[in-house]
Amino acid sequence: MKIGTPKEIFTGERRVAMTPDSALMLQKLGHTCIVETGAGIEAGFADADYKAAGVEIAKTAAALWKAADVVAKVRAPEEVEVKRLRADQTLISLINPGANAEFLEAAAKKGSTVVAMDMVPRISRAQKMDVLSSMANIAGYRAVIEAGNNFGRFFTGQITAAGKVPPAKVLVVGAGVAGLAAVGTSTSLGAITYAFDVRPEVAEQIESMGAEFVYLDFEEEQQDGSASGGYASVSSPEFREAQLAKFRELAPEMDIVITTALIPNREAPELWTEDMVAAMKSGSVIVDLAAERGGNCKLTVMDEKIVTDNGVTIIGYTDFPSRMATQASTLFATNIRHMMTDLTPEKDGVINHNMEDDVIRGATVTHAKKVTFPPPPPKVA
Ligand code: NAD
Repeated sequence: MKIGTPKEIFTGERRVAMTPDSALMLQKLGHTCIVETGAGIEAGFADADYKAAGVEIAKTAAALWKAADVVAKVRAPEEVEVKRLRADQTLISLINPGANAEFLEAAAKKGSTVVAMDMVPRISRAQKMDVLSSMANIAGYRAVIEAGNNFGRFFTGQITAAGKVPPAKVLVVGAGVAGLAAVGTSTSLGAITYAFDVRPEVAEQIESMGAEFVYLDFEEEQQDGSASGGYASVSSPEFREAQLAKFRELAPEMDIVITTALIPNREAPELWTEDMVAAMKSGSVIVDLAAERGGNCKLTVMDEKIVTDNGVTIIGYTDFPSRMATQASTLFATNIRHMMTDLTPEKDGVINHNMEDDVIRGATVTHAKKVTFPPPPPKVA
């Protein structure tokens, strides 16, 4: 099969779904590879790098879509790309199928197979294909770097000839994949780091990274906010009040707040209120990684950086992985390569789309002229 990767057309998207290294691995599976000219340039991969890895270069997007049996890309297809998608073609990319019913209908009607990388089941066996985790890891890291870039002081404390510098205090709200990456980055830069999550089982992970887990003054020690699959459930009003009271106490002390709290299929919970922002010191920074889902901070503006009247910078960017396009493309392309490995079990360049396989089934959202989303629950954990 010929695997093809076009240049992303979503405004500001710098990532690419195939790298010269991933192309070499795809060829070992018996496939051939093609990229649109310039597809990798913003991620640091030139046409010449692809050519050196045995990849063909298509002169236009139209030529790429025409030549490829499998199109691997980052973002869900835009209208012009949907038009180019063919009956006998497989598309592998982020899809957000829950919000893209119209596209699924159109692709199923055409007879195209669509594999949604954001639907890969989050089970151990599928971790190597889990783009949500690999991108969240980057977002968490980059959130701290972005905060540091907008913060006027060091993270680590220093005693210098010119004076004593106190360490920065960082609070990370939500300790899933992105939150834990932020905790690790913050502690490694030397900040005094605190983290909170409604799932008490993460306390150990937070403490093992040298940060402090924030316990609430709540009658039942800490409510267990875990739901199925390691995700969070909605907090009770009493628990939420205890959480907000603790955050109000911490707000004047914190220099940097990174919020990452999400609950599946809901708007992000509002956890950092206007009065907390007002209580923060001038020069403090908030990075709201939940901005795309409405934000954890009341004042976040999606895709923007604002500075409040009391001098607090609030960053609501939603493109952190794209801001680290080389790293993000390398991990994304590796995740796709692993998906292709499972789709090519004989390593003979022939795709066996095995719908009995939990991971392939879970990620496949259209196949054999049918919409196959949502999938049945996985059989293995
Ligand atoms: P997520 O992006 O859905 O949410 C981020 C974090 O916000 C979660 O830790 C959640 O508990 C927390 N949160 C929700 N409401 C909150 C509130 N009111 N206050 C504070 N925190 C709040 O989570 P994620 O990063 O996708 O990870 C979810 C789970 O999935 C984790 O348990 C993770 O270990 C697990 N996971 C498993 C695999 C795998 O096995 N392959 C891969 C990735 C993640």
